[in-house]
Amino acid sequence: MIKKIEHLGIAVNSIDESLKIYEDLLGKDCYKEEEVISEGVKTAFIHVGDSKIELLEATNKDSAIAKFLEKGRQGFHHVAFEVDDIDAELIRLKDLGFRLIHESAKEGADNKRIAFLHPKSTEGLLVELCQEKST
Ligand code: ZN
Repeated sequence: MIKKIEHLGIAVNSIDESLKIYEDLLGKDCYKEEEVISEGVKTAFIHVGDSKIELLEATNKDSAIAKFLEKGRQGFHHVAFEVDDIDAELIRLKDLGFRLIHESAKEGADNKRIAFLHPKSTEGLLVELCQEKST
């Protein structure tokens, strides 16, 4: 079951340069910066009510964020929905005909298991599913 919008992912050229803009905009400080080596990104999170903004900076030229930024636009990149059971959601969506980028959940930032859907099956919207890892 999809529970809520967990965060919006925003691609930026440089977290160092962009973070203050988003902190000023939202009136809040970043609560976590984290590198996800497997995805080739650095992330920074700011709370927005019950949700979050995730800034994403590429750490290598092969990362999905680097390829997105090559098209010359910083800004909105993906929406992340929090789910209660990511494995069950991936099966449910696959059965409905959605294309998956990740067939099974993987480690993400901010203590999450994550998986992305292919934007070809969501009319261009990049969708991430995420589930808090039990500690
Ligand atoms: Zn994300």
